[in-house]
This record gives sequence, C-alpha cells and structure tokens, in this order.
Amino acid sequence: MITKQKGTQDILPGESIKWSTIEDKLRLICKIYGYNEIRTPIFEASELYHRSVGEGSDLVRKETYDFIDRGGRNVTLRPEGTAGAVRSFIENKMYAENQINKLFYIGSMFRYERPQKGRLREFHQFGVEAFGSKDPIMDADVIMLAVTIIKAFGLKGIKVRINSLGDEESRNNYKEALIKHFSSHIDELCNDCKDRLVKNPLRILDCKVDRETNAYKTAPKIEEYLNEESKNYFNSVLKYLDNAGVEYVIDNNLVRGLDYYSHTIFEVEAQIEGFGAQNVLCGGGRYDKLVESLDGPSMPAVGFAFGLERFLMALEAEGKVVDQPNKAHLYIMPLGEEAKIKCLKLANEARFNGLITEIDYLNKSMKNQFKQAERCGATYIAIMGSEEIENNEINVKNVKTQKQEKVNVDDMIEYIINDINSQRRCSGHCSSCGGDCEE
Ligand code: AMP
Repeated sequence: MITKQKGTQDILPGESIKWSTIEDKLRLICKIYGYNEIRTPIFEASELYHRSVGEGSDLVRKETYDFIDRGGRNVTLRPEGTAGAVRSFIENKMYAENQINKLFYIGSMFRYERPQKGRLREFHQFGVEAFGSKDPIMDADVIMLAVTIIKAFGLKGIKVRINSLGDEESRNNYKEALIKHFSSHIDELCNDCKDRLVKNPLRILDCKVDRETNAYKTAPKIEEYLNEESKNYFNSVLKYLDNAGVEYVIDNNLVRGLDYYSHTIFEVEAQIEGFGAQNVLCGGGRYDKLVESLDGPSMPAVGFAFGLERFLMALEAEGKVVDQPNKAHLYIMPLGEEAKIKCLKLANEARFNGLITEIDYLNKSMKNQFKQAERCGATYIAIMGSEEIENNEINVKNVKTQKQEKVNVDDMIEYIINDINSQRRCSGHCSSCGGDCEE
C-alpha cells in the first residue's frame, strides 16, 4: 500500500466541508475589503526565494523543496505566497494599471520541516498583499483586516503582537548594537544563533532555544534605536488601531523570520489552553524594498499570511462549528424499473433548480430507502410507484411537518420550492409547520 508523504495530510470529505466554509468566508471578506484573488504557480525559479526570502534565512537554507527539472532548471515548491505574488505583480506590470493593488491568495505551501502538531510539510496559507501606499494607514488597514477575519469567525482566545523594525538606518544601528551585545555573550548562544550573529543578528530574538538566557533578556531593545521618522511612523499606526478599538500588545522581541520586513510587523497568536507550541496563526508586516529588489519599480507594500491548518485548529479548540453539512433537500424513491427511468430525469431537473437531491442507486427496499433518506438528512421524500406512474404523479412527504401530498410530476419541483419558501417566511406561528420551522 502506498501511503501519504510524511508531513502531508489528506483532507477527507468530513473535513473538506470545513475548509470550503472557511475559504468561502475569507473570499467574501476579501471582496468587502477590496482584495482580488491572485493564483500563482506552485513552483517558481529557486532564485526567486533566494533573493526574496533571503539566502541567510532558515527557510531557504533548510526548508525549501528544491529540485532540478528535466530541462535542468532549478525550481522550488513555494514555501510562502508573497514572493510569487510579487513576481507576478512585477511581471504583469500591475502597478501600471492601478496605484493601489490589493491581492489575496489561498493555497498550499511546502516546507521541509520536522512535522509536529500545527507544523506540516504541505500546509495551506491565506494571505494578502497590499501594494502602493507608504502611509501608516495601510499598515493599520491590513492589521484590521486580520482582526476582522478573526472576529468574523468568532475566535476569542487570540493576542495581536506588534513591533516596528524601523527604516533601514534604524535597523542597521540596531543590528550593530545586537552584534556588540551578543558577541560579548557568545557562549550563551545556541549554534544556530552563533551563525545568526554573523548573518542576521535580528533573528537571534526569534530563537526559541535562547529565550531564557541572560544574553537574550538583557539584549538592547529596538525602540531605543528607532530614529524620529520611524518612531512617528509606528506611533501613527498605533493611533489608527487605538482609534478603531483594535486590541494589541507591543512586543519588542518580535522580529519575524523573513528578511524583507521594515517598519511595522505583527503576529496573531492563539491563546487557547492546550493549543500547543505552534500557536502563531498569522504573521505579516510591511516590506517596502522587496518589489524593487526583484527588479520591479520602487513600490511599498504590506501583507500577512494565515496558516489555515492552525486557524481551523484554533476554531475547533474553541468549539466553533465551521462546517455546514450538505443535508439533502430531497430524496427521490423510485419503486421499480419504470419509476427509476422517470425519477432520474426528475432528480436531474430538481438539481438543476438548486435542490440538493439524492436518489437510490442500489435498488434498495422501501424500508432501506427510508433509512437512507434519513441518513442524507432529507427534508422531502418523493415516492414513485406504479400507481403514481399511471396518474403522472409523485407522492411528496415533508419529513419535518409530516405533511404528505400527491402532486403532478411536472409540478413537483415548484411544489417543493414553494414549500421551502413558505417555511422560511414563517414567523413561528404558521399552521402548516406547527411553528416548527427554522427561519
Ligand atoms: P510565515 O510565512 O512563516 O510567516 O507563516 C505564516 C503562517 O503560516 C504561520 O503563522 C502559521 O500559521 C503558518 N505556517 C507556517 N509554517 C507552517 C507549517 N510548517 N505548518 C503549518 N502551518 C505553518
């Protein structure tokens, strides 16, 4: 038997309904916020990630799925969505059409990581990228979108952490201070961080291993190194958020794993008991230099990405029901060969008219067909036997109200649709349903 690859998951029918429910809602929210979907290839030239994510990043050094294709090209399965979106943005000259471009994506990402709860080798991200504004209003708007998504799904146990990495000048000064500080505590650093000290000292702050060391706790804070402009920028973002009632905490140790961020960065963390170590649901920030560094025009941008596996885990941990089971509206029961021929046509027409319709495929007995109809959650059962065939009729039963009527075959669909609509309008006092309908 061939089994799935380590760190990958099958999303089976009972689960996939949750995924499509989440994706539908995300698409709707994006529409409301003016974001358009972009679908980029799952593999790109390896160079794209080397240049965008950064040669020195753990992601590129240890986690990408790289291979040489049959034409001798170096390609990489996408480990994140921003680089591909930016490549496409530049290649398709989207900037020439609109000053502001707001894009979103949903799809699989691939990282060769050590699998654990909430960490997979193939996982899914939903992300947004907003191009074109250097103003703090855009940072705040993007953060508010992330918070709206969380609220729209009713997730409560979360914390938004925000920090500023400042502009290039501030960051360079801060990096120097970090190198000075950690060089005098080098013995306390883990091997990875010794390496980071040379390649990107900011990342030491992201290290889970060294978090408890004295060196980590006494490290200089970025806020002391932000120049006036960067401070003003950050304060403006916070003012927008305060004014809109967005709750957050400032976390000076937040750095984010990718090289391309400047100014505002943020993460949304799940704070749910027993959730596990991989509790960052969403991460993002401003990346003003990335478009230019990939040979595009000078173009500021802000974005974020949610990990959908973790998002779903968080919703379930809080007991949120995210699926809408496909309950059948109608179960059609043909009794006999001639009825089967008429009923399949009828089922097809009912489906064409939007009724979720099931039919017996197994020539089951009437008793077993009733059981099957119940399993499908059907509200209506339509039975056709020889008597009905003779009169061109079908026997329609509303399972909830127990009302049963013989109707002309040609009128059945309209009859059911009218019945569904009349129950929807019911205020709870109608005689036909005995005040039992859901609407
Ligand atoms: P990143 O692109 O690393 O900033 O990740 C953004 C979000 O994607 C994280 O907050 C996680 O929710 C999710 N994520 C990242 N890596 C993985 C992974 N290996 N497995 C599952 N989710 C992940």
